[in-house]
Amino acid sequence: MWETVIGLEVHARLETRSKLFCGCSTEYGNAPNSQVCPVCLGYPGALPVLNRKAVELAIRIGLATNCTIHVHSVFARKNYFYPDLPKGYQISQFDRPIATGGHIDIHTSTGPGRVRIQRIHIEEDAGKSLHQTPYADVPDDVSLVDLNRSGTGLVEIVTEPDVRSAEEANAYLTRLRQVLMYTGVCDGNMEEGSLRCDANVSVHKPGEPLGTRAEVKNLNSFRFLSRAIEFEADRQIALLEGGQRVVQETRLFDPGAGETRSMRSKEEAHDYRYFPEPDLGEMRFEKEWVEAIRADLPELPAPKSHRYQTELHIPAGDAETLVATRELAGYFEETVQQVSNPRTAANWVKNEVIRVLNERKISIGEYLVTPVALGQLIGMIESGAINGKTAKEVFDEMSASGKSPESIVREKGLGQISDPAAIREQIERVIAASPGQVAQYRAGKASLFGFF
Ligand code: ADP
Ligand code: MG
Ligand code: ZN
Repeated sequence: MWETVIGLEVHARLETRSKLFCGCSTEYGNAPNSQVCPVCLGYPGALPVLNRKAVELAIRIGLATNCTIHVHSVFARKNYFYPDLPKGYQISQFDRPIATGGHIDIHTSTGPGRVRIQRIHIEEDAGKSLHQTPYADVPDDVSLVDLNRSGTGLVEIVTEPDVRSAEEANAYLTRLRQVLMYTGVCDGNMEEGSLRCDANVSVHKPGEPLGTRAEVKNLNSFRFLSRAIEFEADRQIALLEGGQRVVQETRLFDPGAGETRSMRSKEEAHDYRYFPEPDLGEMRFEKEWVEAIRADLPELPAPKSHRYQTELHIPAGDAETLVATRELAGYFEETVQQVSNPRTAANWVKNEVIRVLNERKISIGEYLVTPVALGQLIGMIESGAINGKTAKEVFDEMSASGKSPESIVREKGLGQISDPAAIREQIERVIAASPGQVAQYRAGKASLFGFF
């Protein structure tokens, strides 16, 4: 029986307005090479100046993932040649990263688990090569380079080889992404490349030493992460069972073919000729600064989900749905303030609100129904002013127009009359208007009930 062993390396783009070592804008999607300067173009003699906000964000994600923050750390040059790396080296951190030794807890179908985080370091991003260009006058065999991304601040978050399945890898990445977004460290946008994941995959027999790993690069969606891990584990098992060996290498996932392909043999750290970055001093900061950042952290998704389960008696799966984003959780919590039963609020938000958000492809921030209005609707059901079926109709109208539930019920005449005296009066009027049918009904013609 083979066991799959996975270690994940996540690159998260730091949510700073300017780049890591220069003042250029980090805004995404602008004209190529419109956000560049001598520093991020790698001109000789241009000197880097560290972005304080980037360091603060790196500390924040370190704290939020239970790491030890090192108040002394060192930037290092990682030397390699690539067309999108104009300096010929990347400023990164090597043997003295800013944070080490954290963890993220996950839950999967096999139960709870913990993924240890080996290290978090700060580094700059490279530019982007365009091998297929959108320009008619550029020949097919020409690649272009866009350096807008060059020098953007990243954190690399590296786990221990603690992950055992594609499901666990997804659970880890889901939680890590939530924590990055809750803390405002990264926008989590995988399509735009704000969050990129590499998976180191090996297989072995439990109890035996770990196998040789392949590193699969640039898995830019949860689905690709799962498929790449499953493909890679199967490939390695087939090799080993066929009496062959796994070679340590870097592989690229091809989403079209659903397979991983060899990209290059794996380089070793010494290939990069790391040395301390001479243009930047050691990074040193006060412990008090770290503590101030810690004090400023929001309630994180895991404790929030736990609190929903224990204090509000929300089932675990629903609690996880509600904490998916900080904004959704905030919306839910405000709705809870409006109603007597938190579980009712949870059901409305996780079923109806999320359905509308998905249908319209909008975020909770763009949603027209306020928590107060949703609370009013729930209150009207609980008081018997409207029934459950009418409530769904009113809710859809609220979602479409943003009107209050009272005004919709009034305008559409959807109110339910619950006053017994008023109902009796109506009944008596009907009976008085049809004496013949009343006599037949009394004589036993029960089918006339529907007529009344
Ligand atoms: P490198 O710097 O060459 O990428 P690291 O030692 O930093 O190598 O490890 C990178 C990642 O590979 C880490 O996430 C680590 O947990 C993972 N890893 C190390 N050994 C294995 C293995 N045998 N199988 C799967 N993952 C592994
Ligand atoms: Mg690595
Ligand atoms: Zn610049």
